[in-house]
Amino acid sequence: MSSEHTKLIIGIDDTDSREGMCTTYLCALLRDDLSSFVQVISEPILVRLNPTIPYKTRGNASVALFLECRDSQKVIDLVIDTVASMACLDGENTNPGVVFVIEEQFGNVKNKLSSFFRRAVKDVITIDEAKELSSELDLKFRAFKNGRGLIGALSACGAMLDPDWDHTYEYLAYREKEVWGTKREVEELSLFEADRQTYPDTWDTVDHVNNITVCVPHSGDPVLYGIRGKDISSVEKAASFVISEPVERMCIYRTNQGTDMHLIHVSGISEIKEMHSYILEGEVFSEPATIRGGHTIFSLKDSAGNLIDCAAFEPTKNFRELVRKLIPGDRIVVYGSVTENTLNIEKIKLLELVKAYEIRNPLCPSCGKRMKSAGSGQGYRCKKCGTRSEFTENKELKRDVLPGFYEVPPCARRHLAKQLLRFENDDLPIYPGR
Ligand code: ATP
Repeated sequence: MSSEHTKLIIGIDDTDSREGMCTTYLCALLRDDLSSFVQVISEPILVRLNPTIPYKTRGNASVALFLECRDSQKVIDLVIDTVASMACLDGENTNPGVVFVIEEQFGNVKNKLSSFFRRAVKDVITIDEAKELSSELDLKFRAFKNGRGLIGALSACGAMLDPDWDHTYEYLAYREKEVWGTKREVEELSLFEADRQTYPDTWDTVDHVNNITVCVPHSGDPVLYGIRGKDISSVEKAASFVISEPVERMCIYRTNQGTDMHLIHVSGISEIKEMHSYILEGEVFSEPATIRGGHTIFSLKDSAGNLIDCAAFEPTKNFRELVRKLIPGDRIVVYGSVTENTLNIEKIKLLELVKAYEIRNPLCPSCGKRMKSAGSGQGYRCKKCGTRSEFTENKELKRDVLPGFYEVPPCARRHLAKQLLRFENDDLPIYPGR
């Protein structure tokens, strides 16, 4: 395009409610509508922000488009009109935000927007901070209702301007409008075939352990399915195997899904705050217990002696069986988000497993009979010959688990959690939850 054209980044967030819509759909629609008079420069961005934010509809996503156009004001007006007409503005928690960054601003705003993006993935940000930054950087923006969506919209612009973050791709196929809210028609066998043909270059399409498909959502939004993978050609190849109802449109996004970008390394529990996500090393302190609802919980002790509850919740299915095998003293590293003083485990590294013993009353050294307790704190006594002993019999048990790196199955995967298959050169064996 000629020099009178200008490049433009558009960040959008918080347009949907639980009843319908999806910000990624709006992004795909805009990309298609705009492409008749603008040039789309790169694939759109879909970033997942702090997964513990309570206002999120589902996965705390926000999106950005990168265009080159002749008349930026025309594009800005069209985007604002489209958001105003398509966003679920009646939704109690829907507060759309749209941010525009024009080419001449890129150099000045890049660092601040990029660090804002990185903070929004890990930290909690106020609406005022987002409004102040938009004004300070002199960005064009539009905030609807309380404007909370500006946080995500600014972050997505920051992600577009910053090339230095680990990324994966997602191919999202969208449904025709008439069928939104009805049961999705996607042949399950075709999803297993798509996985068979492209795994490990794509992942989390199906869950083999639990024998279910995981790439087809169940809510009323326009997404038909999403294929995640390491590059564009792999997700396209997987999608080519999927047999389904008609696809209205599709879009491939560059994304921070599957990167662990939300996790913060900490050396102790005293550094941990609510609504943040961590990598924490410690020692299993209490025997894992399964409570009502099927959640398995144990407490972890750090080197300072502080404790935190760690949970494998019911949706993590077979992963709970692994957690139930832990015993006090095991040295582990947990990966996950902290809410309500509990760390929700996404992955776990078993560094060192202590020996397990079955403790029994001793056998009598004289007559070979099993001895009885002689009373609290008084050791053991043989009923037959009267021999006494102070020592229990400790029989070493085989631990039915190995040191290694384990993850929840695909059906329980959080968007940001990095799949074990994406880890290279880890010093422990890797046991994917597939
Ligand atoms: P969907 O996945 O269907 O697109 P969603 O789960 O992305 O929906 P939103 O409707 O976008 O949820 O709501 C999340 C809200 O939280 C947005 O307004 C976003 O700006 C805001 N938000 C995102 N990250 C943070 C953060 N780190 N601190 C505070 N607010 C945040």
